[in-house]
Formats: sequence, structure tokens, C-alpha cells
Amino acid sequence: MRFSVFTLFPELLRPFTQEALLGRAAARGLLAFDLIDLREYAGNRWRKVDDAPYGGGAGMVIRVDVAAAALESLEAVPDEVILLTPAGQRFDQKMAEELAQQNHLALLCGRYEGFDARVETLVTREVSLGDFVMMGGEAAAACLLEAVARLRPGVIGDEQSWRADSYSSGLLDYPEYTRPAEWRAQAVPEVLQGGNHAAIERWRRDRALERTLARRPDLLATAGLTPQDSAALLSAGLSAEQLAQVGAPPPPRKSRKKTPAPAVPES
Ligand code: SAM
Repeated sequence: MRFSVFTLFPELLRPFTQEALLGRAAARGLLAFDLIDLREYAGNRWRKVDDAPYGGGAGMVIRVDVAAAALESLEAVPDEVILLTPAGQRFDQKMAEELAQQNHLALLCGRYEGFDARVETLVTREVSLGDFVMMGGEAAAACLLEAVARLRPGVIGDEQSWRADSYSSGLLDYPEYTRPAEWRAQAVPEVLQGGNHAAIERWRRDRALERTLARRPDLLATAGLTPQDSAALLSAGLSAEQLAQVGAPPPPRKSRKKTPAPAVPES
């Protein structure tokens, strides 16, 4: 998969694409990164890419003709051209999974007051990292790269590991532990120290449900809950009414012991 990142500060992203798992995946040919300096396409000897906003006001705006010349320099048309902007659609795991299906993404990082609004005609989507404003799009591009690249086959090795992660599984991830088994009077839960895989699976699922209920109850409605999950949520404090509200199936019926019928007194 290829990422072509257009930025005024390619050196900010360079180490990011060369280190750790991204760097290793690039070395193995699984990923490719082009870090393209927008100033190369300024079209003037001062390499100036911005100008004052029409209508006045503070700050400078990146010219649309610079963005167009930079994008059109790519040898192949990318599958998606993504503008990073606080006014875009909020980035999430679902979007990362969609983007990971593509083979070539171009990312446009803004600075100053951002790009001339006509840049919208050059892009396939506008993406925001969240409801806050950063000084430039590079950190947003780095987050998008990390989230998308790790979903590509071979990048993190074991695909199952991301399928169980928060958001991909529909729930927040369950808590993980490693050695030491006891630390400052806090012991690793006993079930994880035994070898009963079914019990470990159920424990993990129950903890993921509890965490999601406590921290992100909005996720439960789309989490594909099972009757066993409903039972776990009821014991974690959700009411039967709330369970129905999130569209969870009823918990499994408890098998009741047959109580002998009361003896009918002889008349
Ligand atoms: N005037 C713009 C506004 O209020 O929407 C903010 C421009 S910001 C200072 C400069 C650049 O940082 C933007 O063009 C964008 O590329 C990037 N940026 C800032 N916050 C972002 C966010 N939450 N998500 C994605 N990109 C962001």
C-alpha cells in the first residue's frame, strides 16, 4: 500500500515512516511512503505556497493551484485523496478499515489557515482527527497512517490481534496483564493464570462488556451482543430495559429445577 503525503514539513514525518513497525513494513515492501514537499510546486522562485485571504482577516491560506500541481505530479491517480481538516468527517476505526482496502492514499496536510476552499474539488474526502485544532495536518496524517497501515496484511503479523482490539471487535478491549503476577498487592486475576481457555475467553468478553458499559455505552448498540453478553451486562448493572434499548437479545433462560407439585389433600 502506498501513502503519498503532501506537506510543508516532510521532515516531520520522515522518522515516523522509517521507525518501528511502519519502517519495518516499508523495508519489507508492504508499505511505501512518498513525503512530498508542497513548496516544490509553489511555481515561484521564493517557494511561497500561501497568500492572504480574500476578504481580509488573520493568517495565510495555502493556494489551490499549488495543491493541484502537487497532486497532479503523482504518476498514478490515487484511490483516495484525503484532506486533513478539523472540518472533516471524524476519523474512526470504521474509516480506517475502509481506507485499508485501498492501495494508494494521498494525504493533504494543511498549515496556517488551511487550504483555499476550492481544494475540496480535488479531494475524495475530508477527515478530521477530532474536535480540536492543531497547527498542521502532519500529526493527523501520522495517526491516520498508523491506524490504516496496521490493518494491512503482514504489517503487524497476527491479524487476529487487531480484530480483537478496541473498536474493531465492537467493544473496548479487555484488560491485559503480564508478569509479575503480583505487584503492589495487586494480583493478576486467577482465571488468567490457569489454562482453561474457555473460561479465559468468557472472562475477557465479560470484562470488555463491563468496560464498554462503564466508558462507552454508546458502542453497545452496534456490538453484536449475544444472550451470554446480555447476562454479563445484567450482572454489571444494566437494567433489562436498558438492555432492550441497546437491542441486546434476552439473556439465556436459567434452567429451573422442577419443583414437585404440592400434594393435593385427599378429600
Ligand atoms: N482555520 C482552520 C479551521 O479553523 O478549521 C484551522 C487550520 S489549522 C491551524 C492548520 C491545519 O492543521 C489544517 O489545515 C489541517 O490540515 C490541520 N489540522 C488541524 N486540526 C486538525 C484536526 N482536528 N484534524 C485534522 N487536521 C487538522
